[in-house]
Amino acid sequence: MSTSADLASLAGDLRDRLPDATTEGASFAELSTYRVGGPVAVLVRAHDVGALSAVAEVARRHRPRLLVIGRGSNLLMSDVGFSGLVVLLEGEFEAIELPAGGTAERESSVRAGGAVPLPVLARRSASAGLAGLEFFVGIPGSVGGAVRMNAGGHGRETVEVLQRAWVLDLLDETADATARACMAGDLDLGYRRSNLRGSDVVTTAEFAVTPDDPGTCEARVAEIVRWRREHQPGGQNAGSVFRNPPGDSAGRLIDAAGLKGMRVGGAVVSPKHANFFQAEEGATARDVIDLVGEVQRRVAEATGIDLVPELHVVGDDTGSP
Ligand SMILES: Cc1cc2nc3c(=O)[nH]c(=O)nc-3n(C[C@H](O)[C@H](O)[C@H](O)COP(=O)(O)OP(=O)(O)OC[C@H]3O[C@@H](n4cnc5c(N)ncnc54)[C@H](O)[C@@H]3O)c2cc1C
Repeated sequence: MSTSADLASLAGDLRDRLPDATTEGASFAELSTYRVGGPVAVLVRAHDVGALSAVAEVARRHRPRLLVIGRGSNLLMSDVGFSGLVVLLEGEFEAIELPAGGTAERESSVRAGGAVPLPVLARRSASAGLAGLEFFVGIPGSVGGAVRMNAGGHGRETVEVLQRAWVLDLLDETADATARACMAGDLDLGYRRSNLRGSDVVTTAEFAVTPDDPGTCEARVAEIVRWRREHQPGGQNAGSVFRNPPGDSAGRLIDAAGLKGMRVGGAVVSPKHANFFQAEEGATARDVIDLVGEVQRRVAEATGIDLVPELHVVGDDTGSP
């Protein structure tokens, strides 16, 4: 655990290099879709490759506990918060490069920065007549988060479209401060997992696309959006709380155990989709964590199945990261 003197020294060094990008005591609630959670000791927003190299140099010297975040759509920060360094990409890392040229050249790749929101990537590719990434429209994460989690939906997963990712290990002193290119096959992508380490930052990713009629691509995007609105709740949540057990669905098991609408404080099992837990106005992270534990206990009692969280719970009192 870093002492407050260590963290002040880390923040001081980052502020010297990146004065406008470093914040102490930022509220994690503003960095995640759950909109709950305690403060972050040091937050740095890297807006380009040079800034990220500076973060790596400082991090390698101080070796803080480290959390790389995207859009915080799969994270629950505890109320205690995090006495370490949180790294967030923005600026240049929000760029999308679409292939130019005729049909032959277009049967290739879309390159996107690690901070690109997946729905933006889906819509931009679709309206350019590039098919394959439509499923991303329903997943409110970033490109970096999708690679790390092998995000998927509507019958497709990141592993099916990812060609390469560029990754920088912020704590690896043996590496230089530029990202290394990894082929998708090197990342061991499986069901909501990869072999990326907690100190790895996905800076860029390249996805396979095929040419198609823009109207047809946009219609597929619209259909996914319509399906999501019909079947999933809005509001403050992080999508599916639990991974689906083999051959079954976590939502079905929770529903069958009669837990839709179950509440702990301001956290509620969504009546619309039982694997989505909503944080209502005034909810704490503790409410959500306790609800997750209680649902897990009751489903195990009713079915003998131990549900495994897909949601990453982080913070000083959680042992993660
Ligand atoms: C309404 C809703 C619906 C959802 N539906 C789906 C769905 O259908 N399918 C699905 O798979 N997920 C779904 N999710 C969950 C979530 O959007 C995905 O897990 C997404 O991939 C997380 O991306 P993120 O940028 O928000 O990552 P975060 O939540 O910020 O982080 C998640 C993990 O990725 C790591 N990470 C984030 N950015 C980077 C980076 N640049 N480099 C390295 N590591 C990084 C973090 O360290 C953390 O381990 C849903 C969430 C919500 C709120």
